[in-house]
Amino acid sequence: MDYKKYILPHIWNLKPYSSARDEFKGNEGIFLDANENPFGSGSVEYYNRYPDPLQWKIKEQIAQIKKCSEDEIFLGNGSDEAIDLLIRMTCTSDSSSIIVCPPTYGMYEVSAAINNIPLTKVNLTTEYQLNVDSILKTIDSTTRLIFICSPNNPTGNLMNREDIIKILDSFKTGFVVIDEAYIDFSDQPSFVQELSKFPQLIVLQTLSKAYGLASLRLGMAFANPTIIKLFNKIKPPYNISGSTQNLVRTALENNHFVAESIKQLKINKYHLITELKHIIGVSTIFHSDANFILVKFIRAHELFNYLILHKIITRNRSNVALCNDSIRITIGLESENKELIDKIKIFYTKNDV
Ligand SMILES: *Cc1c(COP(=O)(O)O)cnc(C)c1O
Repeated sequence: MDYKKYILPHIWNLKPYSSARDEFKGNEGIFLDANENPFGSGSVEYYNRYPDPLQWKIKEQIAQIKKCSEDEIFLGNGSDEAIDLLIRMTCTSDSSSIIVCPPTYGMYEVSAAINNIPLTKVNLTTEYQLNVDSILKTIDSTTRLIFICSPNNPTGNLMNREDIIKILDSFKTGFVVIDEAYIDFSDQPSFVQELSKFPQLIVLQTLSKAYGLASLRLGMAFANPTIIKLFNKIKPPYNISGSTQNLVRTALENNHFVAESIKQLKINKYHLITELKHIIGVSTIFHSDANFILVKFIRAHELFNYLILHKIITRNRSNVALCNDSIRITIGLESENKELIDKIKIFYTKNDV
């Protein structure tokens, strides 16, 4: 792939800001280069020093976990930073466009709007799968990004692998972004393993879900090293704070926690679905490969408000394309799921179905 043709020229040619810590890489010495406070921080001592701008120590760990190379990894302040940077490096208002497949994660559309980039929606099928023929027909000479979320939010299911491959095989004049925020909960392999086959592939993952680190804000993009270099060139120099880097490193050493969480959440999901199946007000429980389920209810709006009244917060997706009367429920602790089931049962006993 001739990357230069699909990256905006002002980005391709950009001379990035060179930070003090870019220019000297060692750990030891007398540091008089970055105008830091030599006395410390008033908190833990190391916070007075600027952090590693390229977060090599975390990348070393992630490369091992995800079985890829360190130079195929970009780390951002949440996945949203990667989404925004991707749009900014590939799209311009007057001659580029983006394809998304609703119902899906809302940030692609918001980020396109912030950057004033035209966006075309190709809805999923009624089975919540990619409408491949429609997507291929929609692609034109302006298309630079296609966002595919798998497992998809808010529907919870994986997209058919053959469909994604079909799109990757046909579209080579821009980038295909596969958002795998929930891949750790599914039993399918990640598309990170396909990077060498598809130079236009970009995979997004996050530590916010299975890894339990939503508050630290660490999103990952996996792509060809040429694309990663462009990310690094246009990101704010110190986009991942030193405290986040340290906390993430410790968390990644504890791989037992993630595996145990996933295992337990799968069990909890199974029990929650089993209970829901017995409730008359439940119309459909959609198949989920994630840590949440989308459920179609009779009188969903009323149920949603009733749950809030009892301090159970779910996500009402009733107004989203193809999700009428549906609520997205995150899998919680056993006790939390039991509370939820109890309240739903009471709701439908009080309100005859
Ligand atoms: C939660 C989520 C993310 C993660 O966002 P972060 O900014 O990394 O917390 C990305 N994509 C989808 C589809 C999500 O649901």
